[in-house]
Amino acid sequence: MARLDPHSHADAGQPRARHLRLRLTVDFEASRIEGTAALQLDAPAGGPLDLDSKALDVLEVRTESGAAVPFEMGPEEEILGRRVRLTLPEGTREVRLRYRTSPDAPALQWLAPEQTAGGEHPFLFSQCQPIHARSLVPLADTARNRVTYEAEVEVAEPLAAVMSAGPAGEGPGARPGTRVFRFVMPQAIPPYLLALAVGRLESRELGPRSRVYAEPETVAAAAHEFAETEAVIARAEELFGPYEWDRYDMLVLPPSFPYGGMENPRMTFLTPTLLAGDRSLVDVVVHELAHSWTGNLVTNADMEHFWLNEGFTVWAERRLLEALHGGEAAGLAWAIGEKALEESMERFGARSPFTRLRTELAGIDPDEAFSSIPYEKGARFVTILEREAGRPRFDRFMRDYIARFRFTSITTEEFLAFLEDELPGLAARVDARAWLYEPGLPANAPAFRSERRDALSALAQAFPRGERPGPAEIAGWSPAETLVYLQNLPRELDHAGCAWLDAAMGLTGRGNYEILVEWLTVAAGSDYEPTFPRLREVLLRVGRMKYLRPLYGAMGRHPRTRALARAVFAEAAPLYHPLSRRVAASVLEKHADATPS
Ligand SMILES: [Zn+2]
Repeated sequence: MARLDPHSHADAGQPRARHLRLRLTVDFEASRIEGTAALQLDAPAGGPLDLDSKALDVLEVRTESGAAVPFEMGPEEEILGRRVRLTLPEGTREVRLRYRTSPDAPALQWLAPEQTAGGEHPFLFSQCQPIHARSLVPLADTARNRVTYEAEVEVAEPLAAVMSAGPAGEGPGARPGTRVFRFVMPQAIPPYLLALAVGRLESRELGPRSRVYAEPETVAAAAHEFAETEAVIARAEELFGPYEWDRYDMLVLPPSFPYGGMENPRMTFLTPTLLAGDRSLVDVVVHELAHSWTGNLVTNADMEHFWLNEGFTVWAERRLLEALHGGEAAGLAWAIGEKALEESMERFGARSPFTRLRTELAGIDPDEAFSSIPYEKGARFVTILEREAGRPRFDRFMRDYIARFRFTSITTEEFLAFLEDELPGLAARVDARAWLYEPGLPANAPAFRSERRDALSALAQAFPRGERPGPAEIAGWSPAETLVYLQNLPRELDHAGCAWLDAAMGLTGRGNYEILVEWLTVAAGSDYEPTFPRLREVLLRVGRMKYLRPLYGAMGRHPRTRALARAVFAEAAPLYHPLSRRVAASVLEKHADATPS
């Protein structure tokens, strides 16, 4: 046997499924999906076929002609779940697995009506990256096995279903009061890009190939926020080649969504915390869109090569930002990313193997290894390649790289071999080995000059000495500039300083979550009580891990905020996505070690 992926039971010597046909019924009462998954093999085959599953019951397996397929469930493994070993009769072309998911499927979050914007209907969404698709569908859950798929999803009216696929019609369901939504995904995707959401949804047209879906209460704000999507797609095509997924639609989820966005093809999932009202946070959309090339077209073979997805995409996101809004805007984005990189390096320690780009994750849960490293260190590595090659050559290289590996899943070593063929000697000149295989940040890491960043950070660092920006100056700051200023303030201020900031900048009432959370992080670290109600409100409403980590972290500084953090977490934990709950719990554990201050 030859394992393809440290996080999958898929075996390189066994038959492969190329196409997946799903017939699913979504049962909100039981928090389960029931149905069948038909796996079409690339050639008629017999013998063992190992699939992945997690928190999922396989009820029955048959071939296309109805013959029973013997199957055996392996032991429960904490990270991988249970292997499903089918024994295929000779000549099998298709296996049909009847199965049902369980209420604690890690891919699925079932929201009660009160957790939605509308408050009247439940909501379901999936998050299959990195290795959770196996809790939605029994399959070979490795990015190396790309599949096309079609699906029929039955839901109770008036709910609607969307998937990471093209819509292919809808009609009445088999049972009264239900509706069936049909989907076809003709492009082959890694299983982690399977995605499903069900809720009360409306949509608005944004352009010739994009729409935004959201709850009716949110859809107008979403359409306003993302109105410029077509211009971004067009600019991205100039840089990276044709957009290969036909449509770029987006879904704005309820606030418990644990990520900023997830690049599910044809249906990017987004947190509602991006709806700032002034289009200032659309860099997340630019990022998710850039994944249409780096990540979704050219995909990491497995999670040990995750930097190939995220490093290239952060680089592409900022390349696009520069093309759309100029060098200063991109410079500020790099500066903001630098903070995230520093925090991750500090969290793991610069010698930690988790700070390598090419990681080794056998026996390690990829959700535990998740951080800004593959994103920000990865993007810096791509930048140093770009600088060494020169931009025109590197732009050509990127287009060739994408064209060469489109619709495939590759390793770091395959990337390096291609780089050497196309730009001989470049990897050695930038010391690519150190970047990819060593921990920490190499000495030749690119510096990003931004005069605005330097001026704002100098001003922020002078805050404790009494230096304050004037009202006209503050009024002229863009949201990104405000954020850079706040990021560079000391993490603990006196209460007079907090009061001044809030009065001068109107921070507690902000709807821009990047600014609001940065402020609340400083305020919590300063034990500044007037912000506690807002802090509580944010922690109870929002599940985005990027925000939970610093907020709960800052609350560890003082006994009063530590107590508040424990109380809020007790209330919020059942509302959080399991991933968010785990992040918050791990931060709170560190509070316990903190010496009383
Ligand atoms: Zn990404």
